[in-house]
Amino acid sequence: MTDPTCIFCKIAAGQIPARKAWEDTEVIAFHDIRPVAPVHVLIIPRRHIATLYDATAADEALLGRMLSLAPRIAREQGATDGFRTIVNTGRVGRQEVPHVHIHVIGGPDPLGPMIVVRKDS
Ligand code: AMP
Ligand code: ZN
Repeated sequence: MTDPTCIFCKIAAGQIPARKAWEDTEVIAFHDIRPVAPVHVLIIPRRHIATLYDATAADEALLGRMLSLAPRIAREQGATDGFRTIVNTGRVGRQEVPHVHIHVIGGPDPLGPMIVVRKDS
């Protein structure tokens, strides 16, 4: 259920400090350590699921709960006029931390384009 080498499992267990924005029995949310916008929160399940590839039908309710918390957390953090949710997955998705998480990104300023398309690829 938890991976002892996983940094987000350690945050969920309280072994590594994080600035929490939400906490319940299944899910926690905390501020990203390297925010890319005024609001940048990560929503994670307490249970270790490495990537979205590893989620199964049994995780539907948990993933739905995480996503449905996003607007509430965004509003509470001051992103009241829109935000973006991102789930990076695997190598091509440039997932750095292998414990599934939803980025909630927003703030008073407009965000940039959804994705920057490389001209050389
Ligand atoms: P991803 O590339 O989607 O896996 O994003 C991982 C995110 O986790 C990055 O935005 C990091 O800044 C963030 N991060 C890594 N370590 C921590 C930490 N200890 N506390 C908060 N955020 C973290
Ligand atoms: Zn984990």
